[in-house]
Parts: sequence; C-alpha cells; structure tokens
Amino acid sequence: MAQVHLRDVVKNYGPLEVVHSINLDIADNEFVVLVGPSGCGKSTTLRMIAGLEEISGGEIFIGDNVVNDLPPRERNISMVFQNYALYPHMTVRENLGFSLKIAKRPQAEIDKAVDEAAEILSLTPLLDRKPGALSGGQRQRVAMGRAIVRHPDVFLFDEPLSNLDAKLRTQMRVEIKKLHQKVRSTIVYVTHDQVEAMTLADRIVIMRDGHIEQIGTPLDVFENPVNTFVATFIGSPP
Ligand code: ADP
Ligand code: MG
Repeated sequence: MAQVHLRDVVKNYGPLEVVHSINLDIADNEFVVLVGPSGCGKSTTLRMIAGLEEISGGEIFIGDNVVNDLPPRERNISMVFQNYALYPHMTVRENLGFSLKIAKRPQAEIDKAVDEAAEILSLTPLLDRKPGALSGGQRQRVAMGRAIVRHPDVFLFDEPLSNLDAKLRTQMRVEIKKLHQKVRSTIVYVTHDQVEAMTLADRIVIMRDGHIEQIGTPLDVFENPVNTFVATFIGSPP
C-alpha cells in the first residue's frame, strides 16, 4: 500500500502541453478512477505515475518518495493494460511467475506468490493450461494475476476491460472489486466509461482537455457536478 501524490504535474509533447499542472492526492488503499473523454490525458497521467513517460514539470510521490527520476521497476507499481499480451507458449503458472523469474527470485517464493494470485483470481484449476485454451475473461484474470504476484504498492489499470464484450465487462468489474478488497492496494484506474468509473471508484477524477474538472465520490459528483460538462458527462439529472 502507498499514497500517491501528484504536485503540479505537467506533460508536454514538443510544443504541445497535454497535461496542465495536475494536483491529486490518493490515499493508501484507495481506489481512484480517472475518467473523461478520449484524448483528455488519462493514459498520459497514468503512464507518468508508472514512469513510462517522463514528466515535463512537477513532482510525483509514491509513498514518501519523489519518484520523478526512478525507472518503472523501482517504483513498486504494477500496470495492467487493455492489450494484455500473455506468452502463448507458456502455461498460466509460467505466465504468472515470469516477472519474478526474470527478477531471479527463489523458486519457492515464485510458487507461493503464483499460488496466492491464482487463489485470489480463481485461476487455480487453470494453472497448467496455455492462454490459447482460456476464455477472454480468464485471460484477463491471468493478466491481473501477473500484476498481483509482484505485491506492488500501487496497481495502475489502463482501460483493462475495453476489449471485452459487455457481459464480460460487467463480470470483470466484480472481479476487480474483489481483487481490491483482497490485496488492499492503492489502485489508479483509467476508463472512458462513466458507469465503470461510478461502479468501481472510491473517488472519481473527471478530466477534460488535460486538466481535472472535479474530484469526489461517485455520489458527490453525480449529485453536485461543478459544471455542465461534468453533469453531462456523468449524466446527472438537470
Ligand atoms: P486518453 O488516455 O485520455 O484518451 P491520452 O493521455 O492518451 O488521452 O492523450 C492525451 C493527449 O496527448 C491527446 O491529445 C493525444 O493525442 C496526445 N498524445 C498522447 N501520446 C502522445 C505522443 N506520444 N506524442 C504526441 N501526442 C501524444
Ligand atoms: Mg487512454
């Protein structure tokens, strides 16, 4: 678990500023969802927290540390993307353990972490299968399992359900909620889907054009939108 703080975080691509001085404080074990229209800067913000994009200004804290200059692997985060690439020639067990294996962790530790992750995500009966023999939802659970085995302080999700059909998406929301209750990690989750955001979040962060319009609990934002953009985006009653 860890807190995440963004202080005046800015991102430029060349002359173009796509994230304008964002401030955000995320508590230990909080589930925060960044939501907003396509192109508003959600992924860029998440990728800066992950260390996959350099920040152009400001500071990012994970726990007590400023992580601006730390590479992703030293930030104690795990990221789950929309396009979860599993290794097709490896079993589920091998896929789950792979990151620990390349980190040269002892085999007993890898086995324990994989068994725990499989238990949390109901993957235990599937450990000897290969990805080709799994359903879309099962594959997505393996992708999440790969994030869990590293016991990160912070999970970062970028539209992890976008490739799934509507029914599966609804089921996976429940899985992600369960995951959060079991691992008790801080989660920063990006989606453009308002319903997904409202269902999952402790607090939602509504973004537009590279800045934050409003931060609050789903109920707060729904009942007290700060402007018509938020009201329209969330679908609040007039
Ligand atoms: P979102 O995830 O909310 O859809 P992004 O964070 O991906 O939005 O993108 C925010 C803005 O930054 C968009 O205008 C996008 O075109 C721009 N952008 C993203 N990545 C790059 C890049 N590598 N180079 C230039 N512009 C980029
Ligand atoms: Mg995105």
